[in-house]
Amino acid sequence: MSRSAPRVVVIGAGILGASTAAHLVRLGAHVDLVTEGAVASGASGRSLSWLNSAGARTDAYHRLRTVGLDRWRTFAHRTGLDDRVRFDGGLTWAAPGESHRARHEHELSIGYDSVWLERNEIAARVPGVDGSAVAAEGAVFNAGEGWADLPLVVDALLAEVVAAGGTVHEGAGRCVPVVSGGRVTGVRAASGAEFPADAVVLAAGAWVPRELAALGVAVPEQSPVALLVRTAPVDVGLRVVLNTPRVAVRPAPGGTLVLDAGWSEREVEVRGDGDHLVHDSTVAGLIAEATRVLAGTPRLEVAGLGVGPKPIPGDGEPVVGAVPGVAGLHVLFTHSGATLGLVLGEFTAREVVTGAENPLIASFRPSRFGSR
Ligand SMILES: Cc1cc2nc3c(=O)[nH]c(=O)nc-3n(C[C@H](O)[C@H](O)[C@H](O)COP(=O)(O)OP(=O)(O)OC[C@H]3O[C@@H](n4cnc5c(N)ncnc54)[C@H](O)[C@@H]3O)c2cc1C
Repeated sequence: MSRSAPRVVVIGAGILGASTAAHLVRLGAHVDLVTEGAVASGASGRSLSWLNSAGARTDAYHRLRTVGLDRWRTFAHRTGLDDRVRFDGGLTWAAPGESHRARHEHELSIGYDSVWLERNEIAARVPGVDGSAVAAEGAVFNAGEGWADLPLVVDALLAEVVAAGGTVHEGAGRCVPVVSGGRVTGVRAASGAEFPADAVVLAAGAWVPRELAALGVAVPEQSPVALLVRTAPVDVGLRVVLNTPRVAVRPAPGGTLVLDAGWSEREVEVRGDGDHLVHDSTVAGLIAEATRVLAGTPRLEVAGLGVGPKPIPGDGEPVVGAVPGVAGLHVLFTHSGATLGLVLGEFTAREVVTGAENPLIASFRPSRFGSR
């Protein structure tokens, strides 16, 4: 690849594609970003976006996530976008018959900011939460956690791309890498238009395994269909991201809330033709669970639903870097893409432009699933 001003095509305008594109233009690359529909119309447009490294995971994954949190704090400070990126903490408690004590001890042992709150301390310490809904043993408060409104962040990142001379092609339909002689030479859009490139970054969210399979590269996935409910504006005073046994709740711009849960995800019906059916009872159930954990039993009204696949690699860990057997093709496919969005875009852009591999992502290469 030419070392001066490489031409790079990024496929996918979610948080990972937008972040990569913005970091690429900062490094002087010529960037075309192509995306099937509208910007942020995939998982990034319907994400809980809890920024965290809570609980137990591999050391490498925890380290990457904490660097990810660092980049979000810098982003919020540098851009002043504090209506769309907040670090007001997270509160979580265990389901009946379970305990979060060991999780709290683990977090303390790795230096993750974790405070145990007794039930009777909740009202004073965590506005907006109904203390009587909290587990009898109490709850874990993680002051260093936060949330991001990804569509607004994607818009800000893509504005930076365009200001630097890059181009964003929305509504490009399904775009595929063009490979010749074992090297990527560009991207072909659904219209047949071709975008020549020295390198291509595939940041197509849950559709990454499909696009790699077409090139003979297997990346296992376990991406479920997920549901996010957005409420109308409501005055509840909640600032933290709440992770409770039956519902997760986070504040969102404009005084709205977004809600999701594992059980509600499993109730979405996936039709054979790729359509999704969300039952009214599921939405009503999520609203009821959220009402129960918020102070003052607020009246919550549904303003919108987001439904579609949530990208999750087969082994749960990020898939990032050079695709084996296809020179010049890089991939980004991860769970927790909100937490990792800025940092993985930064690391990928640098690897694409300099060719130097970042040791912090050495264990997350697609080659761990075998070569082409
Ligand atoms: C309900 C829910 C809750 C979540 N909660 C959290 C959380 O609390 N914390 C956290 O860190 N993460 C969370 N996530 C995960 C996080 O939101 C995602 O990992 C992240 O948004 C993925 O971003 P992406 O850019 O990889 O993919 P996407 O946002 O899906 O973007 C990919 C884009 O590529 C386009 N595309 C696909 N194929 C092609 C193609 N062939 N050609 C052209 N365009 C194509 C798609 O149309 C899409 O717009 C959650 C996700 C969901 C859905």
